[in-house]
Parts: sequence; C-alpha cells; structure tokens
Amino acid sequence: MSHVEDYPGVVQCCPAAHGGPGSTGGPCRGQGMSAQPAIDAFGNDMATLQKDWGTLTPAARTARLQSLVDTQATNNNFPAPRITTPSDLGPGRNGELRFSGWQVAINPGLMNASTLSRQQAEQLGDTLYHETRHAEQWFLMARRDADAGLTAPQIQSQLSVPPRVAQAAVANPIPATDARRGCADAMYNSVYGTNAAARNATLGDLGTKGASLASANQALAQATAARDTLAATPGTTAQALAGANNLVNSTYATATAQYNSFQTTYAAYRALPEEADAWDAGTRAAAAVKSAFGPRGP
Ligand SMILES: [Zn+2]
Repeated sequence: MSHVEDYPGVVQCCPAAHGGPGSTGGPCRGQGMSAQPAIDAFGNDMATLQKDWGTLTPAARTARLQSLVDTQATNNNFPAPRITTPSDLGPGRNGELRFSGWQVAINPGLMNASTLSRQQAEQLGDTLYHETRHAEQWFLMARRDADAGLTAPQIQSQLSVPPRVAQAAVANPIPATDARRGCADAMYNSVYGTNAAARNATLGDLGTKGASLASANQALAQATAARDTLAATPGTTAQALAGANNLVNSTYATATAQYNSFQTTYAAYRALPEEADAWDAGTRAAAAVKSAFGPRGP
C-alpha cells in the first residue's frame, strides 16, 4: 500500500472494506458537488450507465464515466481529472485520486466486467464521486494559495498538481470574501496547515495498523486450521488439543486488539475534514444512484 508520506502525489484514500461513522458534512457541505441537485443528476446518469453497461466496450464505459466527471468539473469550476484504469491499483481498491497526474484511477477489473450490478453501480458511483470531490477540494486549496500570492510553480510544488491545474488556480484565486473560502480554509488547515502533522500521522498509522491487523488475522486463521486438523486426527492427545486451543485463544485476543486499534485510527481518518466531506458526498451519490433505479430491488 502506498502512503502519502512515501508518495506525495497519492493520498491514501478510502479502504473499501470497512464501514465507518456517518458524516455530518462540515463547512463544505451543500457547496459545489455537494449540492443535492448535482448529486441527483449524477445519480440519474450513473443509473442509465448501469443499464447500458453490457452493450458498451470498456473504453466506452470509461468515456461515459469521464463525461460524468467533466459535467461536475464544468458546473463546479474545477479542472476535470482524467479517468484512468491502471493495473497497479491494489485489489479491493475501487479507485483513488492521483494528484500529480490529476487522474481518478478506477479499478480496471470493474471496468472490464461484462455486467455491472445495481449494487456495483452504487459503489462505483460512490467511489467516482468521492475521488472527484477530492479534486474539487484540492483545486479550492490551489485557488487559496493563489490568493495568498503563490505562483503557479509554487502551487504545483506544494500541492503536487500538474501545471495546468496550478495555472488555472492562479487565473482564479479565491478571495477571503468568497462563499467557499471557509471550505478552502478547512481543507488547507487539515492537509497543509496547522493540522498537517496530525493528518500525516493518522494516514501513516492507517497503513501500519492495517498491515498489523492483516498479520494478526492470518495468525488466527493458521492457529484455527491447525487446531481443527488436530481435533480431526485420531489419537490426538487431550494435552495437544488443549495447547492448540490455547494458541487459538491467544491469537484471537491479539487479532481483536489489533482490530480495535485499527478502528480507532480508521475513525480518525474518516473524521479528517477532507475525508468527512468526500465520504459525505460519495455516500449521498450512492444513495442517488439507488434512488434513480426506483423502489424495486435488483
Ligand atoms: Zn478520500
């Protein structure tokens, strides 16, 4: 897994396998892509794409997703990120925003599948909206930098964004009086300002604790399998079985502790202002896709 410390251009974003606390939105809620009409329009288009999916080539599917992103970017005043389907996106990752190329990377396995279930469409809509929302957030921060007098090369360096994004920000600085300035300030303080060190620590912990949890789960699975094998083997002594059971119990305790530790960090990650906002928008986008399908189940 890559982390923001290792690769400044990649945010460690959004493990798909874990639920999290609901979001209250924050200072950006209802603005730009977070406005409900924008979300509803996206939901309708995503539902239509789900119906068309089987008739489309992978390239055509990507083009349709690109069109959805372009619409959001045009309507909400930020440079559109490019949809890519790189093979290096880890399994279980639906997508991520890659700042340095201003790209939204989407899992190619999903794009190449001949069908997209309604549930998958909701998940893909969530991911795409979440990651595109991050692009909108980062462009707000770039415009804030521009208002502070930074040049395009300086913005490019600080935010790890390509020249065209930095140049667009310089051409459109966000003044202190702007209705979206509070959002820009909140994002900036989290990622590059007063809270940056705490944020980086949280993102780092998320990776290390995730790895520790995976190891603990593996040890528990191995201990359980070994115990089950012994239990099924004729002639196993009570003493040997008790020892195997003790190992299951101790590895279970370790895995539980690692899980609780991970959950604490995961909650901190979800509470980061930029993540709380992106999760809020993405979750609402998924709900809009589901709503567009109508009341009947799949
Ligand atoms: Zn995110």
